[in-house]
Amino acid sequence: MLKRVDILTLFPELIEPYLTSSILARAQQRQDLNLRAHNIRNFAHNKHHQVDDTPYGGKLGMVIQMEPIYQALATIKTKACQTILLTPAGEKLSMPLCHELVQHEHLVLLSGHYEGFDSRLLNYVDRCVSVGDYVLTGGELPALTLTDALIRLLPGVLGNDESAAMDSFYNGLLDWDVFTRPQKFDIFNVPDVLVSGHHQNIKRWKIKSSLGNTWRYRPDLLARHPFSEEERDLLQQFFVEEDKYEFNSR
Ligand code: SAM
Repeated sequence: MLKRVDILTLFPELIEPYLTSSILARAQQRQDLNLRAHNIRNFAHNKHHQVDDTPYGGKLGMVIQMEPIYQALATIKTKACQTILLTPAGEKLSMPLCHELVQHEHLVLLSGHYEGFDSRLLNYVDRCVSVGDYVLTGGELPALTLTDALIRLLPGVLGNDESAAMDSFYNGLLDWDVFTRPQKFDIFNVPDVLVSGHHQNIKRWKIKSSLGNTWRYRPDLLARHPFSEEERDLLQQFFVEEDKYEFNSR
């Protein structure tokens, strides 16, 4: 299980506030967990701590050089660590990948900037991860996205141990609809069953809502879902009720 994450970046000041706030801060105080950002520039041993240079063959932007990142890895890597390069070319981040990565004790995340790293860095990493098919200015948000997604999977990090297991994607489905007070807002009511106190019916409603949301917004997930008999019945029921499924409002 994950105990240590080191993020290598040119902008640790973008990362540190997030690591030291809210759930990630609390997790580090309470658990055997250490999250740190390191400035790649500190590993550049030239006069001006320069870490980048122009690309061979010509292109706009600067490329992060091999020497400082090699030195940083030599200092920070441990025997047990996995080294992950954040790049738009990587494997797309997903819940199954998070479940796999959280099993590692130590992760080193490489967050690029400008034109990215010298491509020879690929020879020194274990895998590449992308947060989606778009390009961000730097790898800081992707590194934090990955770190956050992993930390909330660790036992005891969330207030209630079961919270992560009830979130979207954990079991391959989207979350069910949630509501809070007031019971009536404008013309929209909270579904009656949720205030009925009937635990079995509430449990079935949640499964139905989760299946319905997945059908509505991510049918691709549903196509891969290994349905139980109860889930099959509830999805069927959802389809039958679909016409009046507008939050029981009218
Ligand atoms: N020239 C690169 C390209 O087109 O693939 C983009 C470089 S980007 C401006 C700078 C850095 O941001 C990358 O080295 C990477 O670390 C990070 N980055 C940007 N988009 C990302 C994404 N979708 N997933 C993961 N990292 C990303």
